[in-house]
Amino acid sequence: MKHLPNRIYLSPPHMGGHELNYVHKAFEDNFVAPAGPNIEGFERELCDKTGAAYSVALSSGTAAIHLALILLGVGPEDEVLCSSFTFSASANPIVYLRATPVFIDSEPETWNMSPEFLELAIQDRIKKGKKPKALILVHLYGMPAKMDELLEIARHFEIPVIEDAAEALGSTYKKRNAGKFGDIGIFSFNGNKIITTSGGGALVSENKEYVEKARFLAMQAKDPAPHYEHSQIGYNYRLSNISAGIGRGQLEVLEKRVKQRRENFSFYQEAFQQIEEIQFLKEPTGHFSNRWLSTFTLKNSSVSPEKIRLHLETCNIESRPLWKPLHLQPVFKTLPFYGEKVSENLFQNGLCLPSGSDLQEEDLARIVKEVKKVFI
Ligand SMILES: *Cc1c(COP(=O)(O)O)cnc(C)c1O
Repeated sequence: MKHLPNRIYLSPPHMGGHELNYVHKAFEDNFVAPAGPNIEGFERELCDKTGAAYSVALSSGTAAIHLALILLGVGPEDEVLCSSFTFSASANPIVYLRATPVFIDSEPETWNMSPEFLELAIQDRIKKGKKPKALILVHLYGMPAKMDELLEIARHFEIPVIEDAAEALGSTYKKRNAGKFGDIGIFSFNGNKIITTSGGGALVSENKEYVEKARFLAMQAKDPAPHYEHSQIGYNYRLSNISAGIGRGQLEVLEKRVKQRRENFSFYQEAFQQIEEIQFLKEPTGHFSNRWLSTFTLKNSSVSPEKIRLHLETCNIESRPLWKPLHLQPVFKTLPFYGEKVSENLFQNGLCLPSGSDLQEEDLARIVKEVKKVFI
């Protein structure tokens, strides 16, 4: 049997060192519960890091999107605009509420929602008789979307914005943090994200009422009473005090993690300079990406991204195609879509390389060497 070198993962967790202190403290104080000081601490520290006014820690980014839609009053028969080029969790909560996603294509400069197609979609939906109830826009792979243009359109039509910043913690647009632009922002701390709570999320807003209402709904919607009194349907979406402890340790090293991910990206960019077919997405002026995943697209290449992926796999290196646009997913393909083939082409021509913040120089060298082999 061929001996394989150590596996290099796409985006594994990377502990900072202080996580266990917070977890130990939770055990000592018997706060092994979905309540406790780590949660309050994590929420406060998340606000400090992102500049958000208020935050609530939740069990996942998906739960945060679900609650955000409820806060904005989305329900059956409503339509919600959503980026097509994203992970399915951006859109699934729309369907949980029996509303209909309306997908919008990407523009080529950030790969995020196209302002042109957004405007076209809104006008067309209004013409067909219904103004969309909300807009979910995503900062994919950490690259901030064209916020000025998108927000101007949303404001003009008075459509509230949910900012899916699950992949963009630590990214900024014109020096403001991702997550701070929408009426509501959401983050994910899933195991593959730039920092992790081993599974978790958060909802942030400048609007205190939204965050308080989200906290209420996430804790089973208990009305004030000595017994359990309910006048609304609640959810069990709170983060545990143990997970929040991991999150506090992770937040301490967020800036470091952003720096390390950006260094991976620069390394790849430089290493593949000679291979003209390999193209990296530049940061437009004012856009600062956390480079959560290092991605590239192939142009006029005789080599396919799948050929590279399969070769890397034989070397025990994990890579992955870019997100398959949601309007092409079997589960969503009958739903409205406004766009051309921008996201579809990205999906066909792109690849995500290993991007963990603890990649060693020898790992990076091994990845580059193996990718180059495919081009010889
Ligand atoms: C990870 C992710 C989510 C969902 O977050 P979970 O914490 O895994 O539920 C939503 N949107 C995007 C763009 C993501 O990458």
